[in-house]
Amino acid sequence: MRDRYEAHAVVLGGSIAGLLAARVLTDTHDRVTVVDRDDLAPGSTARRGAPQGRHIHALLARGQQTLEQLFPGLTAELVAHGAPVGDVLGDARLLFGGHRLARSESGLVALSAGRPLLEDRIRARVRALPQVGFTPPSDAVGLRCSPDGRGITGVRLLRRADASAEEVIDSELVIDATGRGSRSPAWLQGLGFGQPAVDRVRVDVGYVTRCYRLPPDCLDGDLACVHGPAPGRPRGGALARLEGDIWMLTLFGMLGDHPPKDPDGFDAFARSLPFADLHEAVGAAEPVDGPAGYRFPANVRRRYERMRHLPEGFLVMGDAFCSFNPIYGQGMTVAALQALALRDHLRPGVAPACRRVLRALARVTDAPWEMAIGADLTVPGVEGPRTPKRRLANAYVTRLQAGAAHDRALARAFVRATGLVDRPEALLRPAVALRVLRVQRLAS
Ligand SMILES: Cc1cc2nc3c(=O)[nH]c(=O)nc-3n(C[C@H](O)[C@H](O)[C@H](O)COP(=O)(O)OP(=O)(O)OC[C@H]3O[C@@H](n4cnc5c(N)ncnc54)[C@H](O)[C@@H]3O)c2cc1C
Repeated sequence: MRDRYEAHAVVLGGSIAGLLAARVLTDTHDRVTVVDRDDLAPGSTARRGAPQGRHIHALLARGQQTLEQLFPGLTAELVAHGAPVGDVLGDARLLFGGHRLARSESGLVALSAGRPLLEDRIRARVRALPQVGFTPPSDAVGLRCSPDGRGITGVRLLRRADASAEEVIDSELVIDATGRGSRSPAWLQGLGFGQPAVDRVRVDVGYVTRCYRLPPDCLDGDLACVHGPAPGRPRGGALARLEGDIWMLTLFGMLGDHPPKDPDGFDAFARSLPFADLHEAVGAAEPVDGPAGYRFPANVRRRYERMRHLPEGFLVMGDAFCSFNPIYGQGMTVAALQALALRDHLRPGVAPACRRVLRALARVTDAPWEMAIGADLTVPGVEGPRTPKRRLANAYVTRLQAGAAHDRALARAFVRATGLVDRPEALLRPAVALRVLRVQRLAS
């Protein structure tokens, strides 16, 4: 390893997690180089390396708050680009667990930007930081290790150009933010560090999405309608108004019960949902594109923080670290929280203690992971440990959702927890628990 911390960091992956990591690295690093295989030219259409951009991307309330913290004025900038904005509970219809949540102002911001626009605006902010540079489109193909075998000292790249030869970029810190398909486990194995253990919960989710041109009042003025799975019906969808007065409808189903990609089958799937809001809203509207699909096999959490041998100078963030069932809309928000956790461990002129950072990333990932897995395990057929604690928590949430159908305080508590603004334990506070108990008594 070098004697001096030279403060050049390389971030692999220029999507949401990579951009947010780059942003916080500029607080302490002289140079930050972002590598992506895609051409990250300005523009707000979905790209090959982030195909999920064609589907609804809900930004949870905590994500909106954290992005605003990292990029002051970003919300207003997105609104200026046409993104509709409103209140999470006051301006959206939320249908969870077979219940329509009671409406009121939650004080939490719902920012309804398309994913490509959101990424584009974040990237523009990061690009404007003087310490940050982007390589031409390049594949990261491996890591370079120090001669003493203790640390990562650079990355191996292959430019996406004819006859390009492999090159190495030296750096003191490499962050892998290349998403679910990350090759880090294999790279670390090849360098003799072993592989991280993996927690995996199979959900086999299918997404199909179409966009429509609809009048702004097609949901009676609401910004969005989110239709979560109901008990025994692991299907749902979401309709949201995006910039440009385009409405995006994503339908999903779990465990192979996927929405069809042909237009008639897609409509029939929307009609099959317990609440008619989505189907009625798009009704006879003219779609502006054909249905596009995406398959998501499993929640995957790679436990880098538990590896016995970890190289210095190397971190993993975002979906490469943990990727969640997308129906809960957590990925971007967790990436933002991880960026804050990284920032807490950065000191100018000092190499970050990577194991400590990885543990901090794991800590901010714990609650969202437990919430996603806990909810997935309410679906019969999803395999995983149904511990007594999880069963109890799920039974409690089921009752809470029933209560939130007519108790606005419960609905607000629910959206604060699922929006990752409050920790899940907040749902057990006496003020909430007493209301849940009362709902149960009234129902029995
Ligand atoms: C269908 C779907 C719907 C989702 N919906 C939501 C939602 O509603 N709300 C939410 O918050 N999150 C959602 N997510 C999750 C969200 O997309 C991710 O959590 C978020 O983009 C952060 O991911 P990331 O930056 O870690 O990785 P990604 O977004 O996957 O980006 C990885 C980047 O790495 C690049 N790359 C990959 N390999 C290499 C390589 N070898 N060399 C160079 N570059 C490489 C890719 O080009 C890409 O730019 C959804 C995901 C899916 C799949």
